[in-house]
Amino acid sequence: MTPVERARTAFAEVFGGAPQGCWWAPGRVNLIGEHTDYQGGFVLPLALPQGAAVAARARSDRVLRVHSLHAGGTAEIDLDDVAPGTPEGWLGYLAGVGWALTQAGHRVPGLDVVLDSDVPIGAGLSSSAAIECAVAVAWDDLAGLGLDRDALAAAARRAENDVVGAPTGVMDQMASLHGQEGSLMFLDTRSMDIEQVPLELAEHGLALLVIDTRAPHALVDGEYAERHASCARGAQLLGVSELRDVPVEGLTDRLATLEDDLLRRRVRHVVTENDRVMRLVGVLRSGADPRSAGTLMTASHVSMRDDFEITVPQVDAAVDAVLAAGAHGARMTGGGFGGCVLALVEAGSAGAVFNAVAGAYEEAGFDPPTSFI
Ligand code: ADP
Ligand code: MG
Repeated sequence: MTPVERARTAFAEVFGGAPQGCWWAPGRVNLIGEHTDYQGGFVLPLALPQGAAVAARARSDRVLRVHSLHAGGTAEIDLDDVAPGTPEGWLGYLAGVGWALTQAGHRVPGLDVVLDSDVPIGAGLSSSAAIECAVAVAWDDLAGLGLDRDALAAAARRAENDVVGAPTGVMDQMASLHGQEGSLMFLDTRSMDIEQVPLELAEHGLALLVIDTRAPHALVDGEYAERHASCARGAQLLGVSELRDVPVEGLTDRLATLEDDLLRRRVRHVVTENDRVMRLVGVLRSGADPRSAGTLMTASHVSMRDDFEITVPQVDAAVDAVLAAGAHGARMTGGGFGGCVLALVEAGSAGAVFNAVAGAYEEAGFDPPTSFI
C-alpha cells in the first residue's frame, strides 16, 4: 500500500467516517548546491518518488488532532496555543504550518489528520518538509485559501524555523511543492525564481543511486550555528550582504584579505559551490551528456569534506567506494554530519556500486547502508 492508501484506510479506524480528501507531498534530494540557501545562493534539488500523505477532515473548532502511522500515536493541540517551541516533537511541524498560515492572516480550521510517509526519516531527504507541505496543501484546499506554492512553502518554512526551531533555508519546501517529474528544480534562493531543468537519466542509460549511510546525527546544532555565523562574518568582512554576491573570479585574492584560515575555507565552499551549481545547470541546458556533470558533484563533495567540514567517515567512505566502483560522480547530499550520498551511475551498475559500499562498510565496522534508485 502507498502512504496515501494507508492514511485513507486508517482514517476510518482512528476518527470514524471518511476523510474529506488525501494530500501528498514528496521528500527531496539535492543534486548540488549545499549550504548555499541561507546565503542567497543557488540549489538544484529534485523531488523524490517517496512522500508524505495526510488524510484530513476539517473540524468546527481550532483543534489539530494528528495520528501518525509512523510515530504510532495521536497528538493534538489547539492552534491558538501554538507558539515558538510549542508543541514539542513531531506535531510541531504540522501545527507550525497552521500557526504560520494564521500569522499570515488566513483563517484556518482545526483538522483531524492521519499522517503517513515513506520518506526515510532524519536521512537528509527532507521527511520534515514532506509532512509540512502535505498538510499545507490540505489546509489550502479545505479552507479555500487559494494560496500559491511559494506562499505555502513560506508557511511550511516558518513552521520549521519558528515553531520547531530548526534554522533551515527554503530549499526543502520549495522542492517539495515545485518538483516536477523528469526535472531538477534550479532555484535562485534570493529572487525565488525557478527554472525546471530537464534531467534525462534513463535516455542516457544512467541512474541516481541514493545511499543512506545511516550514520547517527549527533550534536549538529552547534555545528550548523558555526557555519551560519562563519558565512555571515565572511560576507561582512568581504563587504557584501550575502556570499552569493562574491564572484568566483578573483576569489583567491579576496580570500587572502581574510586572516582566519577557517573563515577562508567556509567562504570558499559557498562561493565555489554556487559556481558549481551554475556550471552543472549549464551542462544540462546545453544538452551535453549528463555524465560530464559527475566531476562537479565530486568536487562539491571534496569542498564539503575539506573546506566546509560537514562530512563524517561513513559518508566519505561511501563516496570513495562508489567512485572506485565506477560512479561518474558522487557527493553527500543534505545538511551533513551523516545522511545520504548521491551517486551518478550507469543504470546497469547500480547494484554492483551499492555492493561496493556495503563491502567497504563491513570492513570498516560501520552499520550496513541502505539504498534506492
Ligand atoms: P529530515 O527532514 O532530513 O528527514 P529532520 O530532522 O529535518 O530530518 O526531520 C525529521 C523529523 O520530522 C522527525 O524527527 C519527526 O519529528 C518528523 N517526521 C517526519 N516524518 C514523520 C512522520 N511520518 N510522522 C511523524 N513525524 C515525522
Ligand atoms: Mg528536514
